[in-house]
Amino acid sequence: MHSIKYYSTNLKATPVSFGEALLNGQAPDKGLYMPEHIPTLSAQELESMAGLTYPEIAFTVLDAFLKHEIPGNVLKKLVNGAYDFDVPLQLVSERKYVMRLDQGPTASFKDFAARMMGRLMSYFLAKRDHELLILTATSGDTGSAIANAFYGLENIKVLVLFPEKEVSPRQRKQMTTLGKNVRTVAVDGKFDECQAMVKRAFADPALQHLNLSSANSINIGRLLPQAVYYFYAWSQLRNSVDDKPVFVIPSGNFGDMMGGMIAWSMGLPVNRMVIAVNENDEFKTFLNTGVYQKIEPSLNCLSSAMNVGHPSNLARLVALYGGVMDETGAIHQLPEMSLMRNDLYAISVSDALTKQTIFDAWHKHQLLLEPHGAVGWAGLQQYLVSCKSDNKDLYIVLETAHPAKFPEQIQGILHFDPDLPASLQGLEEKKEQYGFLSNDYESFREFLMNTYD
Ligand SMILES: *Cc1c(COP(=O)(O)O)cnc(C)c1O
Repeated sequence: MHSIKYYSTNLKATPVSFGEALLNGQAPDKGLYMPEHIPTLSAQELESMAGLTYPEIAFTVLDAFLKHEIPGNVLKKLVNGAYDFDVPLQLVSERKYVMRLDQGPTASFKDFAARMMGRLMSYFLAKRDHELLILTATSGDTGSAIANAFYGLENIKVLVLFPEKEVSPRQRKQMTTLGKNVRTVAVDGKFDECQAMVKRAFADPALQHLNLSSANSINIGRLLPQAVYYFYAWSQLRNSVDDKPVFVIPSGNFGDMMGGMIAWSMGLPVNRMVIAVNENDEFKTFLNTGVYQKIEPSLNCLSSAMNVGHPSNLARLVALYGGVMDETGAIHQLPEMSLMRNDLYAISVSDALTKQTIFDAWHKHQLLLEPHGAVGWAGLQQYLVSCKSDNKDLYIVLETAHPAKFPEQIQGILHFDPDLPASLQGLEEKKEQYGFLSNDYESFREFLMNTYD
């Protein structure tokens, strides 16, 4: 068995090793890297997951991809370092669970991917004696997760661009109070525009010498670690090995959901993936009609990290179903729509329903949700009604951030302030430092040249 190669979803670039895909971020033809072949876990490996710890499951899942690239003892150390926090599975009512992915250092599910990717990059960079400048655009949670995951790492600098008006003060402080190898810049624009500038910089020949790389959800090194928590939830909650859960995933750029799809492709028993989005419902329309139209500019909804009018990982999902979508969202070959409709169900949740759900979940179940998880929980309620699903099945909704990251919304709906997790305490006293840029590529490029040359 040889090591797995990674091809570009645009099909023009040469397939590369995991290390190269990780350090390149985006493929040279602007496509996204996907494994040419997805390894499967044996029935016995699945069976023996019951009772394993999170880092042990992370090792099993990642080793299936990386065994020819990273020695097992090294990978074990990396996963143990990355995953030193809890992953609570909260029972809400009969076999309906919320998986809280909010116990990491930035209280966001993005910690799971970013912490592993940082360690993987650091490993491959040290081997090559190479340096990188990580450019990342964030709508809030990515930036702080990336900044924290890479903070203090050798051979890596990080620059985070964030839309000035779409990021909460607490989210901002998690990135702007670090310093060292982490720099942050507020942009007078929207998330999609920040991301467009970052993407343009990657393709800019004049910036080649800066060794730019991506840490956004387009990096394959972020995607693979996101397959792990699906296995973990299943291993903890299944009654038998044939127990097939429905996962409900609050989604924006579809990195989280693609992690689930990879887990499914590796042999994880899954009934269906429910993709819950806010009012940015371009995917739902696509799934129903086969016609894809981006939403430009994206709509500003309460679940701000999901305000995405063109999910960057959609090209990967399309590829998984045999289609081809380029980086502009143009479809060159339609995926197997009927298969996709069998496997996936998309639900769009309004802001009004999001608020109502936060209220109801708390008052009915003592379940404290923030807006993103509330989109997921609302998605489950709708799914149960629309698909006449069996109430006895196993349902797992992903909560992607800690409610304390959204104190204004929670206060407005529930009239109390959620307790801060330890990781978010003490931010108020720390000193912030960040720059400003207008939404203009030329000034961004000049800034890069002046700062990093
Ligand atoms: C990033 C983010 C999402 C969306 O995840 P994708 O992988 O981009 O679909 C959902 N909720 C929160 C809190 C996030 O930060």
